[in-house]
Amino acid sequence: MYCGRFAPTPSGRLHLGSLLSAAGAYLRALSQGGECLLRLEDLDRPRCRPEYKDSICADLKTLGFTFSDQVLVQSDDLNPYQEAVEQLLSTGKAFVCRCSRRQIRERPCQCRELNLPYKKGRAIRLDCEDVPRDFYDERLGSLHLSLLPDSLILKRSDGIFSYNLACVVDDVRQHITEVVRGSDLISSTPLQIYLYHLLGRTPPKFLHLPLIVAADGGKLSKQNHAQPVLERFTPAEAVRLALKLLGQSLDDLQGLTPSEMWQQAASRFDLAAIPRQDITLNLQPVPQLTPAPGGNDCNQLTQ
Ligand SMILES: [Zn+2]
Repeated sequence: MYCGRFAPTPSGRLHLGSLLSAAGAYLRALSQGGECLLRLEDLDRPRCRPEYKDSICADLKTLGFTFSDQVLVQSDDLNPYQEAVEQLLSTGKAFVCRCSRRQIRERPCQCRELNLPYKKGRAIRLDCEDVPRDFYDERLGSLHLSLLPDSLILKRSDGIFSYNLACVVDDVRQHITEVVRGSDLISSTPLQIYLYHLLGRTPPKFLHLPLIVAADGGKLSKQNHAQPVLERFTPAEAVRLALKLLGQSLDDLQGLTPSEMWQQAASRFDLAAIPRQDITLNLQPVPQLTPAPGGNDCNQLTQ
């Protein structure tokens, strides 16, 4: 059975870029007769705040999404990530690194040859020499990445597990069959496929969506203060905008709830209609009108 997921980082309220990823993953799953899971990627603790977990869940609920099963919150249990790191160390492809961030910027890490023991303050990296550079995207076709890093961080020197490691571990344990996400993560995909192979798992399919970029070409993201989508639009307006940006029909949506709009859109979901290029949007910021909601249980979202 098809199983997709939406996996936001709770470092702010839901913005339009995240909504587009959620919409793409959700519509694709529903259109395949499958399910879509929600995962909160909150391992990078300094960037994440508990109140944003609640506000993202509340915003998604207001926007009519219903995710299947329990919400997976990464910080709830770190053991699966540690087990994967140990499995990767046992393959000989992962190694302990004592380089500082500055040293890594200045020259390639050569710690693999030193065979260092792990201790607090040291990172764990993966040698990327054998990473395959070609992969297939379900929307964009065959892709080739010429530039890949020499090595990939798996566990940072401050003990935080990396995005790429955690993403693969979670997609495996959530039995994800297809990953639908923004094309800013295309460069991570070969690295993640390599991790699947080293962990003895079959990679899922991958489908990357266009990004929304600001008129100056910059990425619209939480980092550059993209506005929370529900501060700017009503839920119905936000759903219509997401569908429009994904090239989907807006016919016969009048009078429907956001949830019904997704169902209607999924019944005629057209993958080929999604723009191939990134989407330029010129939204001027408007003053904040409503306070961020809080105190909502993420599990209210699930069936
Ligand atoms: Zn090193």
